[in-house]
Amino acid sequence: MTDSISLPAHHWPALEPGWVWLCGAGPGDPGLLTLHALNALRQADVIVYDALVDERILDWAPEAEKIYAGKRGGKPSAKQRDISLRLVDLARAGRRVLRLKGGDPFVFGRGGEEAQTLVQHGVRVRIIPGISAGIGGLAYAGIPVTHRDVNQSVTFVTGHDQSGETPASLDWAAISRGSQVIVIYMGMKHAAAIAEALLAAGRPGAEPVAVVAGATTPTQQVLETRLDRMAEDIAASRLEPPAIICIGRAALMRQVLDWQGQLAGEAPRDLDPLGRGRPAEQG
Ligand code: SAH
Repeated sequence: MTDSISLPAHHWPALEPGWVWLCGAGPGDPGLLTLHALNALRQADVIVYDALVDERILDWAPEAEKIYAGKRGGKPSAKQRDISLRLVDLARAGRRVLRLKGGDPFVFGRGGEEAQTLVQHGVRVRIIPGISAGIGGLAYAGIPVTHRDVNQSVTFVTGHDQSGETPASLDWAAISRGSQVIVIYMGMKHAAAIAEALLAAGRPGAEPVAVVAGATTPTQQVLETRLDRMAEDIAASRLEPPAIICIGRAALMRQVLDWQGQLAGEAPRDLDPLGRGRPAEQG
């Protein structure tokens, strides 16, 4: 460990032999790790990590053994079982185990299942939340997931179910009615079906949409489109997963809050994209 990433003085928990810490690594940018995650990286002797964990984060634990446990979209749960039981075995062998997952481990990450398996096998766990792509990733694109002039609720949706299909179990009409802002994880493959379901449920075709791919990484790309063109624009853009799809007027805020574009020298496109003047100055 270099001094440059040492932890501030605090009573940090010890990762004991035989324990598993289930930890979120955030959406990519290593600066979005929590201090608990850094504390874990410093102590783990084995790290079991997912496809979405940024390599630069693993470099912060040079001594630890690294085990890749990636899962690619929609593969059956047998592999999940293998991963969970592997964690049990490592813990029983007296290792200090860090299970590192992209974003937050309890947000569409199967973290609940893994943690449950561990507890069922008598393995002690600690859960370390992370910044989820559907919140932090959108923030890196200049999109506030809530805004007083846009939404009083937000719905997080997965575009896949366990079979890898669009979740037939989702009531898209209810989602459409109930939430001004819809944030979709794993939605790229089924973007057309999702857009169709929302349009059929009455969402306007002109509703703003932003697709943020590789959010918070050096290759972050953002596509701005509208609901009725979303699927064809995604196909034409050749954006690759992982990507978050944000449907709703919150996406407009990027026109004023694209802070990364502004860092690169661009001017804000519209200082008042919601047409509200300067609400925060009006009390
Ligand atoms: N636990 C993770 C989500 C895992 S599901 C979290 O809390 O963020 C995997 C999906 O997360 C991807 O298909 C994509 O929709 C989203 N995702 C994860 N990392 C991302 C990133 N850097 N940029 C955009 N989307 C991301």
